[in-house]
Amino acid sequence: MKLDTRAMRHLASEDWRVLTAVEMGSKNHEIVPTPLIEKLSHLRGGASGVHRSISALAKVGLIAKVKEAKYDGYRLTYGGLDYLALHTHANRKDLYSVGSRIGVGKESDIMVVADDTGAQRVLKIHRLGRISFRSVKSNRDYLKNRASGSWMYLSRLAAMKEFAFMKALHEEGYPVPVPLAQSRHTIVMTLIDAFPLRQITTVPDPASLYADLIALILRFASNGLIHGDFNEFNILVKEEKTTSDDGQESIKLEPVVIDFPQMVSMEHQNAEMYFDRDVNCIKRFFQRRFHFTGTQPGPFFKDAKKSLGKGGVKRLDATVEASGFTKKMLKDLEAAIKEKAAKLEARHASGEGDEDEDEDEDEDEDEDDEDDMDEEEVHVVLGSESNEAMKVADASGP
Ligand code: ADP
Ligand code: MG
Repeated sequence: MKLDTRAMRHLASEDWRVLTAVEMGSKNHEIVPTPLIEKLSHLRGGASGVHRSISALAKVGLIAKVKEAKYDGYRLTYGGLDYLALHTHANRKDLYSVGSRIGVGKESDIMVVADDTGAQRVLKIHRLGRISFRSVKSNRDYLKNRASGSWMYLSRLAAMKEFAFMKALHEEGYPVPVPLAQSRHTIVMTLIDAFPLRQITTVPDPASLYADLIALILRFASNGLIHGDFNEFNILVKEEKTTSDDGQESIKLEPVVIDFPQMVSMEHQNAEMYFDRDVNCIKRFFQRRFHFTGTQPGPFFKDAKKSLGKGGVKRLDATVEASGFTKKMLKDLEAAIKEKAAKLEARHASGEGDEDEDEDEDEDEDEDDEDDMDEEEVHVVLGSESNEAMKVADASGP
């Protein structure tokens, strides 16, 4: 589903209070009873004002009436949660305007936004946990355990986790976007003016970029972390111009890493699998794209594990886990991310669009091929023509 901000201007302050009341009620009720919405809204005008706002919100799809319910009630939609998050970001001056969408990730929408000085930023909206009918039917536990499967809870968790990791990594001096703000299922961060590695067809020196990426994997490991999705979509490659002492200009390619909801600790029970997968992803990509193969085997998990926390290096896995994530939260999130990845893999393998119906009938999942989407839109937004060192895939190409 796309972020649609058109109705935002037309909402009155009472409407926002009612929308907030539905959100509050959602914590304990899957369908929030209308009397509870009235109570939580604290509107001076009383019930009739609340009812007017409810109609206005339902009309623009921010809340939805649930027909089969035993009682009269509403639930918050993805659109409603988007609005609440944007409202909070705007009030805190994290963002002022919303521009175009630059990417549809695996489980997110990525928008270019601007603050009130016009500086561009990125808004990442997490969209997790929209389980298809088919997989819900085949998974009774999911149904029994609705709370831990709810999209609102999972998407918020993904944003919280990503923000916490981005903050820890940024503070540790890693090349990541600067995390600026988080509200509900969204994050605001700096815009990286670069193309994903996926779009780069040639580089002057693959060996040096490869070495930098492997070094990053090992640096993560020494801080107790595995990225878990270290692939050509999640590595942006920046061109840094450097001038040497004798005035020679040269261009160095600097990788910037993004996308952190699936990061795991080096102590995770499947750590070795995740570590090897990250390493192999890079190896495979460099072989295929640049016909480059490193001369050394590995790196291997058991060696990386030895470097854990050595030389006073901070354990970032512990830092993040100490920042309020329970084991259950991390487990719920991991399960949801795995489920989504499996679904996507099946979709790609079959070479078809997703035929599964969404659980929420009003929230269409985007059927666009995400690869095409990324390439097309990045060109529009960044419009960079200064790529001297590397060639970027043609938007219309394969
Ligand atoms: P997902 O978790 O859904 O894969 P990502 O965080 O990987 O989402 O973002 C999807 C795409 O959006 C990326 O491949 C990249 O092209 C773009 N993108 C994300 N964050 C930024 C950023 N801070 N600056 C520039 N582009 C970004
Ligand atoms: Mg990604």
